[in-house]
Amino acid sequence: MTFYEDMSPYSYWNGGDCFTDMTTGYRFLTFEPPYERLNVGWLSGDEPWARGVAPAGFIERLEAVLAVQAVNEMLGLHECELCPPSDEQPPESYEPRSGHRRSSVGTGEIRVPDRPGRAFAAPTLIGHYVIDHGYRPPMPFIEAVLAFDPSGHAPAGHPWVHFPWVPEGATHYDASVE
Ligand SMILES: [Zn+2]
Repeated sequence: MTFYEDMSPYSYWNGGDCFTDMTTGYRFLTFEPPYERLNVGWLSGDEPWARGVAPAGFIERLEAVLAVQAVNEMLGLHECELCPPSDEQPPESYEPRSGHRRSSVGTGEIRVPDRPGRAFAAPTLIGHYVIDHGYRPPMPFIEAVLAFDPSGHAPAGHPWVHFPWVPEGATHYDASVE
């Protein structure tokens, strides 16, 4: 997976942010982000990464975001490079490996609002990195996750988008009515 240093400006995808409705899988909301995006958790097997115990409540909050957000899902599959090669199962299986809680394969990203005008952009694999490998993200990200209740945000007309900063004019696409 492409490596980006924690807290560096997001550049993985030049287009807008596209939120997928995880309750149906076929509704999408795309917009040019009116916020700065900072990378967190784009780990690689070739680069050092921080280990440590996360503060109480952090993992639960992170999992709550991962349960409701799917951003830029169409951009492909991310595979964990920290896991050793496995003979137990096909490499692209979404089932967690034995002893793990989360899959070592993921698609898409999440967005966590930080201070006004700034959001963190993390691959969904960050849950696996934190829970199964003991990755400790930078403190500003941990604080932002602890402060973010994704269930508390629903833009008008898009109750499935769990993110507060959706601009007017976002493009809605419903694949079920095409
Ligand atoms: Zn892994």
